[in-house]
Amino acid sequence: MIIIMDPQATEAEIESIQQEIKRIGFRPFMNPGVERKVIAVLGELDVRKADLVEHFQAMPGVVRVDLISDLWKLASRQYHPQDTIVKVRDVEIGGSVVVVAAGPCSVESEKQTIEIAHLVKAAGAKLLRGGAFKPRTSPYSFQGLGEEGLKILAKAREETGLPVVTEVMDTHEVDLVCKYADVLQIGTRNMQNFALLKRVGSTGHPVLLKRGLGSKLRDLLMSAEYIISEGNQQVILCERGITTFEDATRNTTDINAIPVLKHWTHLPIVLDPSHSTGNWQYVDSISKAAVAAGADGLLVEVHNDPIHALSDGPQSLRPEKFEALMNQLRRVAEAVGRSI
Ligand code: PEP
Ligand code: MN
Repeated sequence: MIIIMDPQATEAEIESIQQEIKRIGFRPFMNPGVERKVIAVLGELDVRKADLVEHFQAMPGVVRVDLISDLWKLASRQYHPQDTIVKVRDVEIGGSVVVVAAGPCSVESEKQTIEIAHLVKAAGAKLLRGGAFKPRTSPYSFQGLGEEGLKILAKAREETGLPVVTEVMDTHEVDLVCKYADVLQIGTRNMQNFALLKRVGSTGHPVLLKRGLGSKLRDLLMSAEYIISEGNQQVILCERGITTFEDATRNTTDINAIPVLKHWTHLPIVLDPSHSTGNWQYVDSISKAAVAAGADGLLVEVHNDPIHALSDGPQSLRPEKFEALMNQLRRVAEAVGRSI
């Protein structure tokens, strides 16, 4: 439920609505930084909502009370009709410019990361991706460089100016990752790690939330809700392919996710064609499809020596292939009224 206040409503009127929400056992939530004075009422309203609408409608300063039928109240477009723009230093995600984040799956060394960072920047990437903490299916696979990897990413940012997107896997590492990263990535395997979602929600850091391997879009939005309801609306959703019966590709890209999420939520949507296909040969087509379908950005794995990559070499583009892709994407973006 949202309570839309008169733009002239006084602080005292707003305060008394907030007190009343708490008194009857719900949580008031003010949408930060928005011109409209809207108070969201959070909690399970199901039984009492008709009475509550009337109750709040009668209070001073209230223009209207609306029910939000979506379960993801704060992530819903019903609550926030305008697109949310997530700001990462001077990069804006969710506006008219399609933002490409590119870089290696894993940070392997300083030389590798900085070399790739320069190359993807020259090709037009606006963000650098790279994992320092790696979620691997096998405990015997490369697990990432940890803090050393974060330091390398920070150095790459210093040298190129590209803000950094990197994964955080554990609540205990959130402060550490925040020290170095510009965007906290929540990986597919952690989409429903609710403790982690709440923890990143309590930071002011932008979050890139990846869809779970077997998660519905409704569940993705409920996970975003965990983050936003802790006070952090800087959430970017990421479609990264889902598990289906099809085994020709590592995952199945759900292109439908883009228009559906655009309809259901105000949050920006990016697509990861590297994990969604698992094969560099298909990254090009799926990247173009995503931009044509309205994605706000892409997360692409690029490696200068994919054969020897410590993770995800087979799905990583060589820098020259990435550059060729960016050149084509500019034209696709233009065809749908955007730029890169
Ligand atoms: C990654 O981006 O490197 C990654 C591990 O992604 P996902 O969580 O989507 O598998
Ligand atoms: Mn990867």
